[in-house]
Amino acid sequence: MSIQRKKHEMPLLPRESRICSFDEVALGYSEEIAIAEADRCLNCVNQPCVRSCPVNIAIPDFISKIKQRDFKGAYDIISENSLLPAICGRVCPQETQCEGSCTLGIKFEPVAIGRLERFVADCNINSADKINRIESKNKKIAVVGSGPAGLACAGTLAKKGYEVTVFEALHRPGGVLTYGIPEFRLPKYIVEREIETLKKYGVNFVTNTVIGKTITVDELFEDGFKAVFLGTGAGLPRFMNISGENLNGVYSANEFLTRVNLMKAYEENSNTPVLRAKRVAVIGGGNVAMDAARTALRLGAESVKIIYRRSMEELPARKEEVEHAKEEGIEFDVLRNPVEIIPSDTDKEFVGGIKLIKCELGEPDERGRRRPIELPDSEYIIEVDSVIIAIGTTPNPLIRSTSSDIKFNMRGGIIINDNGETTKSDVYAGGDAVTGAATVILAMSAGKEAALSIDEKLSK
Ligand code: FAD
Ligand code: SF4
Repeated sequence: MSIQRKKHEMPLLPRESRICSFDEVALGYSEEIAIAEADRCLNCVNQPCVRSCPVNIAIPDFISKIKQRDFKGAYDIISENSLLPAICGRVCPQETQCEGSCTLGIKFEPVAIGRLERFVADCNINSADKINRIESKNKKIAVVGSGPAGLACAGTLAKKGYEVTVFEALHRPGGVLTYGIPEFRLPKYIVEREIETLKKYGVNFVTNTVIGKTITVDELFEDGFKAVFLGTGAGLPRFMNISGENLNGVYSANEFLTRVNLMKAYEENSNTPVLRAKRVAVIGGGNVAMDAARTALRLGAESVKIIYRRSMEELPARKEEVEHAKEEGIEFDVLRNPVEIIPSDTDKEFVGGIKLIKCELGEPDERGRRRPIELPDSEYIIEVDSVIIAIGTTPNPLIRSTSSDIKFNMRGGIIINDNGETTKSDVYAGGDAVTGAATVILAMSAGKEAALSIDEKLSK
């Protein structure tokens, strides 16, 4: 039997419908396409894909179930290791993980593992309806933050019978999945479904509660919680510290995306103000920059430019997102660095342009990426009405200012040992709060590992 060389294409919303709506762009495989794609899997004995999955999903096994049209069986296999498959199937950087080491990828395109995971999860989206409550261990655990790290920790512990309460600073749970990643990439009903599943396992969600301000970590222990997990993420934006960053029309990507996603600024009757600029520059080249650029386009921008200091090859965003951004008309001004944000001639308090300097690539830095070097006398100005800064974030600092016995590293990350425990006994941490901005799957894996350590300690 000959193997199809390329992955089966993901059906997409047509470009013209995309740029004026927030509907999901990738529509998902049909049953026929999923089975045909599953048939490409070689069922390798050494399973390199499993070893490259941060949570070691039994990939060939779930793919075999798809071949047999047993989609529930496939879901059960994925669920053994992943608590958020409908989310991971949509946003994981599979090209550098499971698909990056797929044997088929040596000669042809790898098996579309992520698309198959999404297909299976979407087929079983109502599986939570059949969950029965688990017998309680009568031990309370507090989880701080409801992003993927907190959700995975909460889910793992709830399934073991702990009474888990998740405290979330914002008014809706989900962390970046809710406030950061836009609807057109990750529909919010998917995140809500996953949260509903956790509620069915008995997890209690308390929103609008900032740990470190409303209640301290010590007060949680006084309230009878036996362990605390900190999954507080890395939501503090970095700025460039250049002139003009305080002008109206300059946003951090986090603020811009939060206004649009969480506060629904894109809806016609929304009360949330957001500048619907016509010419937008987005600084940065990661997933956050792509999301901000594509969101600005959907809010009515006529021109959106990504300004990135390295070349297209070094762009850290997922390949698929870059392709979608290009299709939608986002322009890429690479090998450029911002020097100054310039006020408008008509109103000095608003953005009117941005001065850029051209760069070339020099020697690799300590992470192996070629360093951008600014070319003397190459500055020029482009006219824009808004600048969105997406050059990274650092861990949220609130816990730091109110819990002196929890220690932090130089980059603001919480220090943990091999069991995920911080320098304060019975306080655990994981996800972006520890590593700095990373990925959904790594945060989820850290939350699950910490939950297993908590269970082990409390079971002694
Ligand atoms: P978060 O998701 O940040 O959740 C932390 C939660 O803790 C937040 O809800 C916050 O409000 C809450 N919190 C903070 N402090 C407190 C406190 N003191 N008390 C109570 N609650 C608190 N990763 C991918 O794998 N693929 C992608 O395509 C991708 N795209 C992204 C796009 C955007 C726009 C962004 C911003 C990130 C993206 N990421 C992506 C990264 C990924 O979303 C994060 O790595 C992941 O969400 C980290 O999970 P977390 O649980 O550690 O933290
Ligand atoms: Fe299938 Fe690729 Fe995994 Fe081999 S490496 S089992 S072909 S998904």
